[in-house]
Amino acid sequence: RGDAEEPRIPFAEPGSMTRVYCVASGKGGVGKSSVTVNLAASMAARGLSVGVVDADIYGHSVPRMLGAGGKPTQVEKMIMPPQSHGVKVISIGMFTPGNTPVVWRGPMLHRALQQFLADVFWGDLDVLLLDLPPGTGDVALSTAQLIPNAEILVVTTPQQAAAEVAERAGAIAMQTRQRLAGVVENMSWMEMPDGQRMDVFGSGGGQIVADSLTRSLGAEVPLLGQIPLDPRLRECGDAGEPLVLQEPDSPAGAALNDIAKRLG
Ligand code: ADP
Repeated sequence: RGDAEEPRIPFAEPGSMTRVYCVASGKGGVGKSSVTVNLAASMAARGLSVGVVDADIYGHSVPRMLGAGGKPTQVEKMIMPPQSHGVKVISIGMFTPGNTPVVWRGPMLHRALQQFLADVFWGDLDVLLLDLPPGTGDVALSTAQLIPNAEILVVTTPQQAAAEVAERAGAIAMQTRQRLAGVVENMSWMEMPDGQRMDVFGSGGGQIVADSLTRSLGAEVPLLGQIPLDPRLRECGDAGEPLVLQEPDSPAGAALNDIAKRLG
């Protein structure tokens, strides 16, 4: 039905007060979902109204990391999202039976995303975070089309090779004319018992990505923060209790809380 009216996406309306961030990375496993979940929990703990769309169809680990085990319910024509730690969350994984791998194609993903944005009862959000799949694929372009005013947040590790692919994920902003909110470096170092820092994955990646995106976009793209490696971050994620709430004063928790403050 090509002539059907496009569903209304409140976040894309000119007067929308919601800041929308698309959390992107070049490749998987750099901590994109962990960062998304902790930023969301941190903002919610400060009293902001926060929603997360888990659009990482390959990973969809956000509900688990947030401890949002509930299922969405339907009230009239709206989908009510489960809520955990004050964060409303919707995930593609909530609509696939069991652990069936998602093999949806671009147009289906676009429709699913459209539905998440238009038919979910989010209420008045201060911030909406979208956890995108790694890379520069269909979902990144769909989001840009559906919410042109969304800003991109790039997550990378300090490794040079990772930084190069992360830069490509950020450079998509030139194509889509979106604003780049900044770069987050994750797994920056490991603090040793003697207080020394060990650069497990090298160093400098976050700054390299920020500098080179600043050059290519001709606008300041800040390195928003560096998050050290911390086994507690993984443990808290596995337990559905975000580190920023459990250990807000740990170096990783404090770094995530600082970044969250810079964003909203
Ligand atoms: P992505 O979304 O980029 O694929 P995840 O957030 O799923 O990455 O993280 C991959 C794995 O690394 C997870 O097991 C997560 O708990 C762990 N992890 C992420 N960041 C850190 C960190 N700073 N310290 C320790 N473990 C981390």
